[in-house]
Amino acid sequence: MCADTIAPRGIAESNGAGVSSVVSEPRAPRLYPRRRARRRHSARPERFSLLIVRGDGTRVFRCNVPRANAVAAGIAIAVLGASIAGLVTDYVRGRNMVRQAAAVHRELAEQREVIQSFNRRVVDLRREVGGWREFHARIWAPFGPDAAHGRRDTSVGGGTVASEEAAPTSPIGELDRLTETVMREGESLRALDRIMTRAGKVLAGLPSRWPIRGAVNSEYGNRQDPWTKAPEFHAGLDIQADTGTAVRAPAAGTVVVAGRYAEYGNAVIIDHGQDIKTLYGHLSKFVATPGQTVERGAIIAYSGNTGRSSGPHLHYEILVKGKAVNPRAYLWD
Ligand SMILES: [Zn+2]
Repeated sequence: MCADTIAPRGIAESNGAGVSSVVSEPRAPRLYPRRRARRRHSARPERFSLLIVRGDGTRVFRCNVPRANAVAAGIAIAVLGASIAGLVTDYVRGRNMVRQAAAVHRELAEQREVIQSFNRRVVDLRREVGGWREFHARIWAPFGPDAAHGRRDTSVGGGTVASEEAAPTSPIGELDRLTETVMREGESLRALDRIMTRAGKVLAGLPSRWPIRGAVNSEYGNRQDPWTKAPEFHAGLDIQADTGTAVRAPAAGTVVVAGRYAEYGNAVIIDHGQDIKTLYGHLSKFVATPGQTVERGAIIAYSGNTGRSSGPHLHYEILVKGKAVNPRAYLWD
């Protein structure tokens, strides 16, 4: 059915170089009357020929195919082409989806890392805030159990904190617990602020500062008398200081004594109110005068070695309701 042949010059020129095409078989020359030709045409099935022409147009490959086969082949080629197009489309779409999935996967990993970092920080914060409870309990202890009105939790210790840490955590749960703890501690701080505002004036009146800086040669309490070596009670602190060192008021008050005061030699006594007085002995020079009001930190005198003293120093005494107490109980720094 198919055969190589020498192409007539006319056919080669009309098809052009290297072109394959399916064309109808050339009509036979009209050698017979029209009626006979029509009868012959209906008797033989129409055929199609596949012509392959060389570039120089000299050779032709011809393949005759019945019409039905040609149509079937065309349909098969069309179906195959459509299938390939569909497969290519699906492949491209699938490749895009894989790329998008990889991007989403990376984004999810980053978000997971952010959430884990957030959780760790919230846990650290909650542990820190939880530690405030013990701190607050120590602050509140001097004011008594009823001082902190409205506080829901005055317990001391880490039991509650530990149980919260052991509980399963989620970002929202952690945030809720942290918020609750911060709100509770904030409430406690505000209550403490109210009390401290009221107590501030009282605290400011306490002799909480050192009147002079230096080594303590003799503490408050029982000791051996420097001269007789007999046991005696020392009612204050002996702070070593060169003669002429400035002595400052440890709190605001009114000077009630500035002069000779028995064995203390030159002495100053300040009344701070609230039944608290301070005494400074063995001074060399006075600055404050009796009846004068002094502020915290004001220079009231200069240290020396007057009275019953074995060397230059300051004898510092705190009296509460007339009775000497250990000054170290009042010194905050
Ligand atoms: Zn002394």
